[in-house]
Amino acid sequence: MFRAILLNKNDDGSTRAELTQLDDAQLPAEGDVTVAVEYSTINYKDGLAITGKSPVVRKWPMVPGIDGAGKVIASSNTNWKAGDHFLLNGWGVGEGHMGCLAERAKLKGDWLIPMPHGMTSRTAMAIGTAGYTAMLCAMALAENGVKPEHGEVLVTGASGGVGSVAVAILAARGYRVVASTGKTAEADYLKSLGATDVMDRADLSAPGKPLQKERWAGVVDSVGSHTLANAVAQVRYGGTVAACGLAQGMDFPASVAPFILRGVKLIGVDSVMAPIDRRVAAWSNLASEIKPDTLEKITQQISLADALAWAPKILAGEVRGRLVVDVKA
Ligand code: NDP
Repeated sequence: MFRAILLNKNDDGSTRAELTQLDDAQLPAEGDVTVAVEYSTINYKDGLAITGKSPVVRKWPMVPGIDGAGKVIASSNTNWKAGDHFLLNGWGVGEGHMGCLAERAKLKGDWLIPMPHGMTSRTAMAIGTAGYTAMLCAMALAENGVKPEHGEVLVTGASGGVGSVAVAILAARGYRVVASTGKTAEADYLKSLGATDVMDRADLSAPGKPLQKERWAGVVDSVGSHTLANAVAQVRYGGTVAACGLAQGMDFPASVAPFILRGVKLIGVDSVMAPIDRRVAAWSNLASEIKPDTLEKITQQISLADALAWAPKILAGEVRGRLVVDVKA
């Protein structure tokens, strides 16, 4: 038997989440690698799954947890053997395939990434999908020609998981980072991660003009809605916006003016189905660029049981940085 968070659907359609015991027979038949999960995380999407606030779970019952890291117990996949260290992000795990908020999981070997040199299960999960997505966004800016000498870059939702890691990565790469946040009390925290300036997210979150004063060489946006529309409207000629999230909303109430008059590029960033070579490149960058002391500033550690109480808090935007889950605690 092993401990797991289990989600069931009530008769009225709501989600029931509990910490319970499962046995190996309850793990999914699909999957050729059985793993001992050492650490998992709570991402925004895990918050949606555990609370049932949005229909991200597609099979019932479900173990949530889109991220996991630990050791292989048994494998019929030729690329993996018992004792190997792995990390996993996405691929529909915790949505359509039982996930990693559990001491054990059965996963597809093709989804797993070998633990990058110098990383532990805990540091990998302190980064998690949110941090890996932040790196995909930083890579998108660089690949589209945004260089530190081009001017300031904006990070929205800056005190959240994606935002905190994006601030740290971009600052370490030499960009001047402006952090937009609703938690102005976290200004010192954001500056300690490398932000040169902090702005109130209220300046971006209301409806704005289709073209505004040019300011940003690049933007990492995890917020969507009016915030993304205003950010795009403020990007300098030829600049790039990497859009990955919807914390404010899924809508995008913008005009084509920034694209056709300023050549602004809007790049969509997806972590869930990103190809394996892209993931390995992102994790290799994370292993070399994120300093352990920076990661500790960003991270709070919680237990598996605590995950239930933290899920609504992440949706309410109340979590600073990243939540790493010690599944044994
Ligand atoms: P967090 O909850 O940790 O961070 C989101 C942050 O957004 C909050 O901390 C808050 O930051 C800000 N925010 C919250 N509500 C609002 C609001 N109503 N208006 C404006 N800003 C708000 O979540 P994550 O960082 O884990 O994820 C952020 C987003 O990115 C989510 O929408 C998530 O689904 C998405 N995502 C997408 C991925 C992909 O593959 N495309 C992968 C990972 C995440 P502050 O208080 O500083 O303003």
